Amino acid sequence: MLDRPAISAGVFDPSSASLLDPPLTDVQISMRDGLHRFAAEVMRPAGRALDRMSADEVIAKGSPFYAVHEQYRAFGLNQSAMAELPAQEAALLQALAYEEMGWGDSGLAISIGVNAMPASVARVLGVPEFAERFPETKFGCWAITEPDHGSDMLDSTRQAFANNGQYGRPSCLARRVGGDIVLSGQKSAWVSNGAIAEQAVLFSLYDDGKTGIRGCVLYVPLGVKGVSRGRPLEKLGQRALPQGEIFFDEVKLPADCLAAGPDEYHDALYDTLCLANSSMGSLFVGVARAAFEHALAYAHERKQGGVAIFQHQNVKARLFSMYRKVEAARALARRVAVANATAATPALQGAIASKITATQTAFEVASEAIQIFGGAGMSREYPVEKLLRDARASMIEDGCNELLAIKGGSQLINAARAN
Ligand SMILES: Cc1cc2nc3c(=O)[nH]c(=O)nc-3n(C[C@H](O)[C@H](O)[C@H](O)COP(=O)(O)OP(=O)(O)OC[C@H]3O[C@@H](n4cnc5c(N)ncnc54)[C@H](O)[C@@H]3O)c2cc1C
Repeated sequence: MLDRPAISAGVFDPSSASLLDPPLTDVQISMRDGLHRFAAEVMRPAGRALDRMSADEVIAKGSPFYAVHEQYRAFGLNQSAMAELPAQEAALLQALAYEEMGWGDSGLAISIGVNAMPASVARVLGVPEFAERFPETKFGCWAITEPDHGSDMLDSTRQAFANNGQYGRPSCLARRVGGDIVLSGQKSAWVSNGAIAEQAVLFSLYDDGKTGIRGCVLYVPLGVKGVSRGRPLEKLGQRALPQGEIFFDEVKLPADCLAAGPDEYHDALYDTLCLANSSMGSLFVGVARAAFEHALAYAHERKQGGVAIFQHQNVKARLFSMYRKVEAARALARRVAVANATAATPALQGAIASKITATQTAFEVASEAIQIFGGAGMSREYPVEKLLRDARASMIEDGCNELLAIKGGSQLINAARAN
């Protein structure tokens, strides 16, 4: 006989995340387990409460939103701690962390992740001095989309633009004026953390006075004269994530706020999309896993036809389909996270594949969870309807999945054989 525990049905424990994980280091296990407790004990209850509050209440003084951020900071899981680890280990640790936090509450997880965007973008662009000037201990945001240019801003290379399509007027423009940069216009109401951010890594159209209007990346402290905000946005899902417009009225910035100029802009956006899409992949594996776990538990509790509903074959098959999708999305998300963190040039098609797969999976698995809950799934008394709303937002967030698919497809084309 083989020297191993006997095979028996019913040993699956979803709380250990997966029976399929490769061996993890002690640091990874301890951080994953610590974050799991934080997600269960702090993020979930706060996320549930914030989901029922108005957008104004979410950002009001005394809101549980701020307590979550404070407690997260105590973990010390910041970009400089990550930089101490070998790249492969750090990438897997980050993927584990995003999955646990997405499992806890995706709106709060994104708010935490977005705080680190100024510092993380500085690292991927190779300008670490900006990470020191704009640390993740402050509320941060990634301001790129505009009222008139959502998908357009994520497609700076115009790979998805219609034939003869015209960009039109930017909603936000940075201009070089003597030794300064002057910023005017606005970013969209969708900027995550926009309503509370103290600093932004801002992707904008830029007139350098020499080569016409092209793109640039600026680091902007948001407490300066000329910056104002709109009301926080009321929305369907991820309601714990404060979003809102940021307005710039002739905001004067020193030239050393420019982190990437027009010649570097396309590469800067490519690298940033690789980072953001890969993080979204891991985070929404967590949402999908949460929906699967709720459905699995409920299938053991709810009785119909005289037995727990998991005894019905269709419920068992549906649960297995959910399990399979979560495992497949997780495998892709972790593979992409590690590959892109260790490659000389990250693969955008991989990051997009991870984001689309995980967000689509989260939406499908949340919908299947509602089906397993029956009528109870529609009720706000149970957690799965919120997961469906949260997952729905993710298919638009950080680029509509359709637009991203066109960009991903463009990466696969061999230009030499394009005709
Ligand atoms: C929860 C959430 C968080 C977000 N966080 C941020 C953030 O932190 N910072 C930030 O700047 N923005 C953020 N956004 C904005 C987000 O990136 C945009 O909503 C997204 O890029 C789509 O832009 P849009 O809403 O203007 O839609 P549009 O661009 O107007 O698209 C409308 C429809 O047209 C389709 N479409 C548009 N252009 C094309 C094309 N060229 N080819 C094919 N189809 C096309 C789209 O797929 C979509 O179905 C967030 C959005 C959400 C929902």
